[in-house]
Amino acid sequence: MIRIRGARTHNLKEVDLDIPHGLLTVITGVSGSGKSSLAIDTLFVEGQRQYVESLSIQSRQYLQQLPKPDLDSIEGLQPTLCIDQRPNAANPRSTVGTLTEIYDYLRLLMARCGVPECFSCGRPILQQTTEQILESIMHLPLETRLIVMGPMASGKKGLHGETFQAIRKAGLVRMRVDGEVYEVDAAPTLNAHVGHTVEAIVDRIILREESRDRIRDAIAVAVKLSGGLVSVSYLRPGALNVDTNSHWEERLFSTRYSCPECGISYQELEPRTFSFNSPFGACPECNGVGYRLPDVAKKSVRKGSEEDVAEDPTLELSDRKICEACDGKRLRREALAVKLAGLSIFDLSRMTLLELLEWFDSMQWESNIKPIATPLVEGIVGRLRFLIQVGVDYLSLDRTADTLSGGELQRVRLATSIGSGLVGVCYVLDEPSIGLHPRDNHRLIQAIRRLQTSGNTVVVVEHDEEMMLECDWLVDMGPRAGEYGGEIVAQGKPRELVAAANSLTADYLRGTKKIDVPSYRRPVDESRVLRIEGAGAHNLRSVDATIPLGLLVGITGVSGSGKSSLLLETIVPVIEKHLGRPTASPGPYRHFSGLEQVDRLVSIDQQPIGRSPRSTPATYCGAFDELRKLFAVTRDAKQRGYNAKRFSFNTGNGRCEVCLGQGVQKIDMGFLSDVFVECMHCQGTRFNRQTLQIRYKGKSIGDCLAMSVSEAVVFFENIDKIHRVFACMDQIGLGYLKLGQAASTLSGGESQRVKLATELARLDTGRTLYVLDEPTTGLHVDDVRRLLQVLSDLVMKGNSVVVIEHHLEVIKCCDWLIDLGPEGGRGGGMIIAEGTPELIASIEGNATGRWLRTKLRS
Ligand code: ADP
Ligand code: ADP
Ligand code: ZN
Repeated sequence: MIRIRGARTHNLKEVDLDIPHGLLTVITGVSGSGKSSLAIDTLFVEGQRQYVESLSIQSRQYLQQLPKPDLDSIEGLQPTLCIDQRPNAANPRSTVGTLTEIYDYLRLLMARCGVPECFSCGRPILQQTTEQILESIMHLPLETRLIVMGPMASGKKGLHGETFQAIRKAGLVRMRVDGEVYEVDAAPTLNAHVGHTVEAIVDRIILREESRDRIRDAIAVAVKLSGGLVSVSYLRPGALNVDTNSHWEERLFSTRYSCPECGISYQELEPRTFSFNSPFGACPECNGVGYRLPDVAKKSVRKGSEEDVAEDPTLELSDRKICEACDGKRLRREALAVKLAGLSIFDLSRMTLLELLEWFDSMQWESNIKPIATPLVEGIVGRLRFLIQVGVDYLSLDRTADTLSGGELQRVRLATSIGSGLVGVCYVLDEPSIGLHPRDNHRLIQAIRRLQTSGNTVVVVEHDEEMMLECDWLVDMGPRAGEYGGEIVAQGKPRELVAAANSLTADYLRGTKKIDVPSYRRPVDESRVLRIEGAGAHNLRSVDATIPLGLLVGITGVSGSGKSSLLLETIVPVIEKHLGRPTASPGPYRHFSGLEQVDRLVSIDQQPIGRSPRSTPATYCGAFDELRKLFAVTRDAKQRGYNAKRFSFNTGNGRCEVCLGQGVQKIDMGFLSDVFVECMHCQGTRFNRQTLQIRYKGKSIGDCLAMSVSEAVVFFENIDKIHRVFACMDQIGLGYLKLGQAASTLSGGESQRVKLATELARLDTGRTLYVLDEPTTGLHVDDVRRLLQVLSDLVMKGNSVVVIEHHLEVIKCCDWLIDLGPEGGRGGGMIIAEGTPELIASIEGNATGRWLRTKLRS
């Protein structure tokens, strides 16, 4: 067992927990109850720390030291890895292929088994003999000046002392290093950390008929010295200006690979030939990015005609100009000309993962390459199967990581972990079911099981009912959030937990508490609809969609079916544009009507609110500005001449001058991470003594920041502008948050709901359209119940709410559903059903309907 004792991180109250080794444990509980504080900030952080401690002193100093979480002890901890949803900021060039290492296998496979074709004539590349090389050179005009060289190193890091030695040993006196000629005895001192190109200069010859033998000898020496290559630098007769390099041409010959027809020689294939992150593989025009940004000139011309642009779908896609040299394929033409059964590495990277697996499964390997290919193909196919199992079969290897949703990214990482075959590791997963259709949930659970049964401990923070019921050990945290949580209220095998008396989770699992199916569905008003025709972003197949207004509408469908492409990448930007707000270009579409029906749009995505300690729930929602005004008009403040600025903790004379209004002080721990402690001077109130003397209804501004949201609702009952927003926060379960709590300490779910409450509290026009992207992320069913109440209230007032959701409790409460599918990626992109939940549930063979049926019955 992993034995955690006395954990006190954040809101945890001396938590003791035993997590069984080698089993699957799920930690659940309402949002803010302390799940992440326990699983990530305690278990994972301590796991990392113990691992770093165990390393030798030399390696330790290179690793960032992690602070010790606040706890008594953890025993039995294994090396711990965390698979969360945060995009990996380290490498903006990562793709599904590089993240999963499949692309690395594929590069090796291409280098070993691929057949190079000439990029100019398409013929397979053959090796050249020295005689053939000689003939090619002899075809140059007479009197051409030749420098015959043996390439010794091409872009290799190192000091190259041995290379120079080898050249000297061969009896040669000159060489070219990075394009400059040197005497071997006066070799330059190289920087070992950058790549260098070294060529031995074998001979300098003027091409004449009688120099044939001398050229043949030079070729032989170069080939012997370099192991097969000859490079020739030459200046045609009559070319001016002998001493500038510009008229010198270069040609590479190889006794290994070259086109017999065009005479073009190729470098030997290496894995790096196929890497767009390496200068040896990347397209030299775009450096392996695949596109070029439009020049400023073009952009300003387009600005003048913005409106027309929106109507013309072909123009919309032109923001990123595809690189003409590589056609967006990111690689050199030499690399793209290498084929495996007729396909290049680019062709393979573009297939969906499912197509790629099928391709490999049907591949017949020739007997001479089979032994080389087999282990590589196993590595690829195994990983592909895991990816498909976790429900991302519609992705392709070339998809860049920054275009994946958090859930997709996490599932890609999960599949990679399974493929890595580590054992004896403790994996911590944070809500892996995000963005996944219930249809694919089971496969995800099987994949997680596989990670566990191969010999690992798996701890999952999750709200999904199926995952809870299928795990080995279920832990329920609570009883509520923030300071009212931080305890384990029940734990046991799922069967035992369902029977627990004091657990909110158990109440829902048993069905004693539940979200009711609405007794009534609001009807569609044909005169109040948004209609889009011919939407074609990503995989959408010229979709015509009608979104009824004044209702709670759910956009459903399996992951990758096109929900975000339709709603967030097309409909939302079109409306933003109509309302005159800055926005990304919408995806292509033919026609849009009904825009006049919407006079406000509120779109709430999953980005966290600020990460700085200066942002707090009160400042984010704007209530703090009102609060400052309130203090400024008190009699005392007026007497002392304090204006609203005086009550700011970001600037001015009112804030604590020691912590500069942060309420905390940073302690520099040297090589350890910084630690924040409450400011001794203001006791964390952020203000100086004079400012705190001003009271509003008996409380100072510092007291107000220390209030919980629920307290604020009562205290500011008569100040509508302040009351509204806190009442909203309270209503969606954030009553426990402190007004002055630093945004950097909010959990993801809390952060999203602060944002939601802020938007919801603005005066609605009755014609506002609210668009939400999976608002149930991080929410326990009980939180979902409150959320639904808020959404329903908005619709009651005449507004429209459209949500992208997989959560069946939300879907079953929608008035109208638009279901995309049938599959993800190219197999999707269509609206396959529209109607009330009852109607969708009655459709045979509809995946959403099938799962909905179980919910509507109960
Ligand atoms: P859950 O994962 O169950 O949603 P968390 O563990 O993220 O909950 O948060 C538990 C409580 O601890 C919340 O009240 C949250 O505001 C608080 N909290 C989270 N991170 C920090 C932090 N870095 N500093 C202080 N409080 C925090
Ligand atoms: P959903 O929201 O239903 O999960 P998406 O609209 O995100 O689906 O994706 C639909 C299809 O479009 C998928 O095949 C996805 O891989 C593809 N796609 C989404 N975003 C991008 C992008 N930025 N670049 C390329 N393809 C994308
Ligand atoms: Zn290019």
